[in-house]
Amino acid sequence: MPTCSACKEDVEELKMVSVGGKKKKLCEDCADRARESEAVAEESEAVVQQMMGFKGRR
Ligand SMILES: [Zn+2]
Repeated sequence: MPTCSACKEDVEELKMVSVGGKKKKLCEDCADRARESEAVAEESEAVVQQMMGFKGRR
């Protein structure tokens, strides 16, 4: 039985989610949460870059 690396629950199926550029295997619940926080992080970063007139690459 695979174990979620976030909540340590045994689950039937793990989902591969990339969080902060790292691939993680999470259960469905944690995968959803990770995806949400990832989307929020990307959004706020885009806002900061716009405010600073940032045009280059990181
Ligand atoms: Zn989990």
